[in-house]
Amino acid sequence: MWHDRKVGRDTVELGLRVLDEEIVRRGYETKFPVKYFGVSSLDYFEEALNVGRETKGTEQASTLAVLVKCAMEPYQKAEPHVEFVLTGIDLYSGDRNNNFVYGTTIPINTGRIPPGFTIISDYRISEWYSDVKPQAMYTMILHEFSHLFSAPRPGREGTVEILGTHCILDDCAMGQVNVVRPVVNGRTGRYEHRFVDLREQAVKVAKRKRKTGDALCRECRKDLEYGKEGIAEQLR
Ligand SMILES: [Zn+2]
Ligand SMILES: [Zn+2]
Repeated sequence: MWHDRKVGRDTVELGLRVLDEEIVRRGYETKFPVKYFGVSSLDYFEEALNVGRETKGTEQASTLAVLVKCAMEPYQKAEPHVEFVLTGIDLYSGDRNNNFVYGTTIPINTGRIPPGFTIISDYRISEWYSDVKPQAMYTMILHEFSHLFSAPRPGREGTVEILGTHCILDDCAMGQVNVVRPVVNGRTGRYEHRFVDLREQAVKVAKRKRKTGDALCRECRKDLEYGKEGIAEQLR
């Protein structure tokens, strides 16, 4: 994991906390050693700013351009490793039709370089959701981390295909946010089709975590652990 100078210290701490909770405390550290590199050069982001964008000067970095830069790094070539990147710069996916993303993940596939990639920005969340930033950032970081291990499993019951596979519940960290989508109330089971905002989702996810000790629903948790086991198996 590494980050730029613009990201909040609170976001960095949450990133380290998710890696600790999900890898170290669950006994995967020998399979997936966590390395923290601290601040890396802003060159990655400066070179990724507004790549292929017609509207220059918006100070958005292309997640695709950062990925390409990581793939070409000599250390990545010498010792392939999953990139887990936190930035304070606003992100977009690299195509012109997309306004912004909170984060993007390319799931772990041991044959690729880099073998897995996650990038998350706290820019919008600091601007729009400062009142619930810890809950929103935690939800987002765990969300992208789980995608690294291909959770939720495509085709599983209780999932929906919107920009990848996502959970249908309104109180699981794997739900898709800031979109109109099918949504099931995790408490009452009621089905609706409506806009789900990150604030609503993050507050409900925090409530689930307080109650059950987990920000993921049982099915998404199963998928995440299954994903970790599968990748550990591939590395054997
Ligand atoms: Zn997602
Ligand atoms: Zn779920």
